[in-house]
Amino acid sequence: MKLNLAPGLTIGKSPINGRGCFASHFFLQGYKIAEYAGERISRREVARRVRTRRKLRICALNPYWSLDGSLGGNGTHYINHSCAPNSYMKIHHGHILFMALRDINPGDEITCDYISSYHSDAKKCRCRSPICRGTINKIV
Ligand SMILES: [Zn+2]
Repeated sequence: MKLNLAPGLTIGKSPINGRGCFASHFFLQGYKIAEYAGERISRREVARRVRTRRKLRICALNPYWSLDGSLGGNGTHYINHSCAPNSYMKIHHGHILFMALRDINPGDEITCDYISSYHSDAKKCRCRSPICRGTINKIV
């Protein structure tokens, strides 16, 4: 299936993990990068996919609904986790937005701190940041 990328995004090989999402134009700190897109699924369907899929590209919208970027994703579903990210997710009127935490230049990989994800708490982080906490989920 052809990927309809959001403007300013491109997919490439990531030094962090597999494929990643990269900027193809400049994004100004504090501004929106793109909206997370994907199939809208219920938490029951999330639980099923978490059990059966090797790669998870599911992003929670609220305690009931999530979006799975594996279908209808726009490139943001390739945004890898980093403990020193350059973007963050903001939920705004039922939309999941990626916002720039700092200026992002063309060629930079876009990363986000997943904080809490559908990955196991034991899943190791390989973001290579000097402040890497060692796991993808932030364990409190
Ligand atoms: Zn890390």
